[in-house]
Amino acid sequence: MTAGLLTLLSCGTTYELPDTGGVHSDAAARLYAEARQSPPPKTLSPTAAQARFARVEPRIMRAGRETCLQLQTGVNCNVDIAIDREMKERNAYFTYQDGQPIIRISLPLIQDTGSDDEVAFVLAHEYGHLIGRHVEKQQQQVLAGALIGGALAGIVGDSSDAIGLGMGVGASAGGIVYSQSYELESDTLGTRIAYAAGYDPVEGARFFARSEAARGASGGYSIWGTHPPDRRRVATVLATKAQIEGQVGLKTAN
Ligand SMILES: [Zn+2]
Repeated sequence: MTAGLLTLLSCGTTYELPDTGGVHSDAAARLYAEARQSPPPKTLSPTAAQARFARVEPRIMRAGRETCLQLQTGVNCNVDIAIDREMKERNAYFTYQDGQPIIRISLPLIQDTGSDDEVAFVLAHEYGHLIGRHVEKQQQQVLAGALIGGALAGIVGDSSDAIGLGMGVGASAGGIVYSQSYELESDTLGTRIAYAAGYDPVEGARFFARSEAARGASGGYSIWGTHPPDRRRVATVLATKAQIEGQVGLKTAN
């Protein structure tokens, strides 16, 4: 049983991450530095932001669903994508609501984007968390961790606390911080989805590379808080785009 629990604790990705060395790493360093030095784009009006969302959302939904079905992941590929009207911070997230997979993005985030490519990449990245089964995996890891902790403390007889902890993972959806490997896997999947939808994932990834505060004015996490800017993320997008253009498909990780 312990071996089984330890297996659940591993943070392995479902798909192979691309090799980000050499030329990709140099190009990523340049692009990353450029994105961090550029001034933030002019803030869009709420009306213009909603128009941008209305243009991008159906294309990402279609491309995401096709990618999800092709990979035969067994997950429910019919995601409900909408604007979260309550959220004040510039953030976006993927979660399950009564068993239904949902992607939410805040209006302030869309208002702060510099192009349709950026909104497309954010939504496609969140779709990657569904295909990578990151919510389920993270819940299992928390549950397994709590059970092991309970076993070590000699209180494994009552696992209700552990289950409560596992169930709580999805609760603060905008504040979920995944492991770096899951974020990179979402970037790989998101690059493929954004590209299939006709957007430029490299242009889109500039958004995540920006130098912005981890928390917003009202104290909640921004997307830079849950997705710390990292050069490896840009390199992963560049390497994945090169794979797509070289007709190299996604491979399952061993
Ligand atoms: Zn993410």
